[in-house]
Amino acid sequence: MNLLLLTPSDFIAESRVRLTGRPLQHVLEVHRSQTGDSIRVGMLNGEMGEGIIVSLTEQAMEMDVCLDQAPPEPLPLTVLLALPRPKMLKRSLQHLSSLGVKKIILMNSYRVEKSFWQSPWLSEGKIHEQLILGLEQARDTLLPEVILEKRFKPFVEDHLPAIMEDKRGFVAHPVGGVPCPHQIDDEVVLAIGPEGGFIPYEVEKLEEAGFERIHLGSRILRVETAVTAIVSKLYD
Ligand code: SAH
Repeated sequence: MNLLLLTPSDFIAESRVRLTGRPLQHVLEVHRSQTGDSIRVGMLNGEMGEGIIVSLTEQAMEMDVCLDQAPPEPLPLTVLLALPRPKMLKRSLQHLSSLGVKKIILMNSYRVEKSFWQSPWLSEGKIHEQLILGLEQARDTLLPEVILEKRFKPFVEDHLPAIMEDKRGFVAHPVGGVPCPHQIDDEVVLAIGPEGGFIPYEVEKLEEAGFERIHLGSRILRVETAVTAIVSKLYD
């Protein structure tokens, strides 16, 4: 946790917060902070700054906070991610949140196992937890939006055109296509396949919707590695 995220309910006075639970444990066990130490803090969906610890016990911590800095710029990127299995989903959400992606669409695809849609990790609360971990890691406060699209064809045909407006679409696929573009300024919608990859029909449907097929060379990467590599190529 490189930033401690605050919500309005943490405030007990205009610039005084009282924290218990996970943030307190982290400060005690990982930071091993003491009264008088300063900690980087941020208001969820708001500004960031410093907090000075004014009291710290096993039960609660109070800090005086000053929030006067803007969070980092979001990436101009929407990610369409074929729903990964729960363990990968957790990691991918954290990762996308850390990278600065503010719109994540989890979509169905032929090679997504149906049971993945029943996962408790898809509940609003669990998704929120992973996104928060990503923001705390990267020192950001702007919570990404996550949308679930359980049917591939109606999503691509009916909803995707509006999402694509004024943006470029890229579908990451190891075969065919062109090398991933480098240092662009455009807003992008990036489609990433499931562990088994997109089937040809899906790549074709995305191409019909205006997506360009891109690759990262012959190495097959994990979803979160592929996203990181693509982001660092697209946006310097
Ligand atoms: N077995 C699958 C690979 C799946 S990897 C196949 O051969 O198609 C999971 C997803 O990560 C892929 O669907 C793709 O979106 C992305 N990815 C991984 N490695 C990639 C590469 N070298 N180029 C482009 N996309 C890649």
